[in-house]
Amino acid sequence: MRILVTGGAGFIGSHLVEELLKQGHTVITLDDLSTGKKGYLNQIIHHHNHVFVHGSALDRSLLNELMENCDVIFHMAAVLGVKNTVDHPLKVIEGNIDATRNVLELAFPRKTKVIFASTSEVYGKNEQLPFSEDFSNRVLGSTNTHRWCYATAKALDEHLCFAYGDKGLPVTVVRYFNAYGPRQNGTQYGQVIPKFIKAALKNEPITIYGDGEQSRCFTFIEDTVKGTIACLDPKANQQVFNIGIDQVTTINELALKIKSLSHSSSEITYFPYSEAYGQGYEDMQKRVPNISKAKQTLNYHPTVKLEDGLLRTIEWYRQDLKHGRDDG
Ligand code: UDP
Repeated sequence: MRILVTGGAGFIGSHLVEELLKQGHTVITLDDLSTGKKGYLNQIIHHHNHVFVHGSALDRSLLNELMENCDVIFHMAAVLGVKNTVDHPLKVIEGNIDATRNVLELAFPRKTKVIFASTSEVYGKNEQLPFSEDFSNRVLGSTNTHRWCYATAKALDEHLCFAYGDKGLPVTVVRYFNAYGPRQNGTQYGQVIPKFIKAALKNEPITIYGDGEQSRCFTFIEDTVKGTIACLDPKANQQVFNIGIDQVTTINELALKIKSLSHSSSEITYFPYSEAYGQGYEDMQKRVPNISKAKQTLNYHPTVKLEDGLLRTIEWYRQDLKHGRDDG
């Protein structure tokens, strides 16, 4: 197939592009390099079935041109990260809504399948776990708290997807649950695994926000990509899938694991949320996916255990620091 990947030089995007090429597809990678890095595509930049285009999904005429003769679009380009959401709400709202609308509007007349990268954030602070795609309520906070703008923008994107889906566009929505692995950009987004690993490798303090008893289901990038590519199956059309793993880890456990796996002497310190994200920040205490729909429909079975994924990620950051890139 001929496939366009927006945001293809980003963390999830670059791993996805590599795997699609491995599977024999032709791939056009579009990325504005705002957070993605061309270096993440080093291994495939000259691949005979790959073209890299430096540009934005906000550029309609470019997008229109690149979609010509494509069979599928993976729309991965996004403005994300808790820090961005709190500090740059306009960038988050516009970047996520306008680009997705462009992709869907331009894909629609051609009936080109769109696979849209969404997020477990859309479930918000619902305390009824695990989250099921079609049944769990979304529980979000007030609109004058920026913290909720990313979840809201992605949810509106999902509505757009399904509205176009009703008109006959083949669409699939994937909701990611805390993907992690090599190339995740912790400096810009503030995500916990790259931050902890970088601190551990430098023997600097590992900072836990709150009491550390909040938990997440950390999903290794290989499994995330497997679930995403499985959505090429027509059975996935007009459907939404949780793509994650159901191994629950508290942030305290995560800090200890990273410290021990990287043989670090970092001390573990605690910070109030207000110091990290400002007053009024609400963290999700728990977030667990129900992945039975993805298992049944997509034959998606995540296999990478946290320890193994962390070891591989730590090794990547070690090399990254050794070569003085420090770009994760
Ligand atoms: N977190 C932390 N220290 C950090 C960064 C994050 O304790 O330096 C916590 C954060 O408060 C949250 C969890 O780790 O409870 C996961 O945060 P991340 O931003 O990676 O993902 P999300 O909150 O979007 O799931």
